[in-house]
Amino acid sequence: MSFAPTRLRRRHFLARAAITATITATATATAAVSGIAAIARAATPTPTPTPTGAKLKSMVPTLSKAAVGYIDIPHGGEVCGACIWFKPPSPGSTTSHCHLVAGPISAGGWCQAWMQRSAAA
Ligand code: SF4
Repeated sequence: MSFAPTRLRRRHFLARAAITATITATATATAAVSGIAAIARAATPTPTPTPTGAKLKSMVPTLSKAAVGYIDIPHGGEVCGACIWFKPPSPGSTTSHCHLVAGPISAGGWCQAWMQRSAAA
């Protein structure tokens, strides 16, 4: 009586199960990230025309940093400081904010809702 074939089959089965679980977990995580990005894009109002002045000032930031993939570093050449939604620090403050994203942000940060601010804005 030999145990080798059974052990090999069991090892083979366990290895395949581990690989399948890894692939499933990766696919699920990828779908979740992709889903979050889609939700953020859908939740991001399209500025048509771009809100300015009082309308822009009256906007209440409602999106979480996680929902829009906010990071505290630039993304390529895109930074919060050059975004139409960026709120520079108030006089006497050093904290920047955003018209869309709740909480303090960095002028050198970035998120998926980034839109180039025009030179006139
Ligand atoms: S990049 Fe995102 S967090 Fe930064 S100002 Fe624009 S909308 Fe706000």
